[in-house]
Amino acid sequence: MITSKLLAEAEGLSHGFSDRAGGESAAPYASFNLAYHVGDDAAVVDANHALLAQRLGYAPERLVHMRQIHSDRIVRCTPEMGFHSRPECDALMTDLLGQPLMVMVADCTPVLLYDPRRRAVAAVHAGRAGALKNIVGKTVAAMHDAYGSDPADLLAVLGPSIGSCCYEIGPEVAQEVQAAGCEGALSLRDGRTYLDVNAIVVKQLEAAGLTAGHIDLPGSCTACRTDRFFSYRAEGGTTGRQAGIIMLK
Ligand SMILES: [Zn+2]
Repeated sequence: MITSKLLAEAEGLSHGFSDRAGGESAAPYASFNLAYHVGDDAAVVDANHALLAQRLGYAPERLVHMRQIHSDRIVRCTPEMGFHSRPECDALMTDLLGQPLMVMVADCTPVLLYDPRRRAVAAVHAGRAGALKNIVGKTVAAMHDAYGSDPADLLAVLGPSIGSCCYEIGPEVAQEVQAAGCEGALSLRDGRTYLDVNAIVVKQLEAAGLTAGHIDLPGSCTACRTDRFFSYRAEGGTTGRQAGIIMLK
């Protein structure tokens, strides 16, 4: 489990980013896979969820996770929502105590947001498509609308995700990145183009009003470290999912 110093020092919440170690799944999902849609045995995935809930101290049935669709759709959780709700969206937010939120990833950037003043949290799935739609900036705005969050109060953490060391893209995608005004996140090496999704996300968080000192990146590149993380790209598309989890206590 990877934690952020920024969030660990803040009071009143639990959070973490799981890695692939310590679960019960067999290869190619070994061993802490949390996703049901990747081909793993559902009973084993249930067992992994139960283990994670125990470690982070939440009731498994209270966890809200998403049917992620690479969109900019944000869902505000209600008290009735729980493990089997699975809303179709790419960001969840709540001000309810004891309602954990989860984002699942294997290269995309998981982002956790916390407002210590208004007491609200969000979990965001920011892959390339979501980043180009500014899902993090839109989630900050949604927290302002829903909870009165001042962006200057928010703390943000970007979890383990694919880095610009490994995320090679083709010319069409590079054009999309340029069209979205994110050309600063492109780099060229040996005639190949690489994308830095985290750089886009950090810039968008700052543009939304977060201060640089309130943004933490404790993770490393998932594709460089398949010993530690699931990586969709580095493992040819068949692999498990790790997660970012956040909950108000
Ligand atoms: Zn890498």
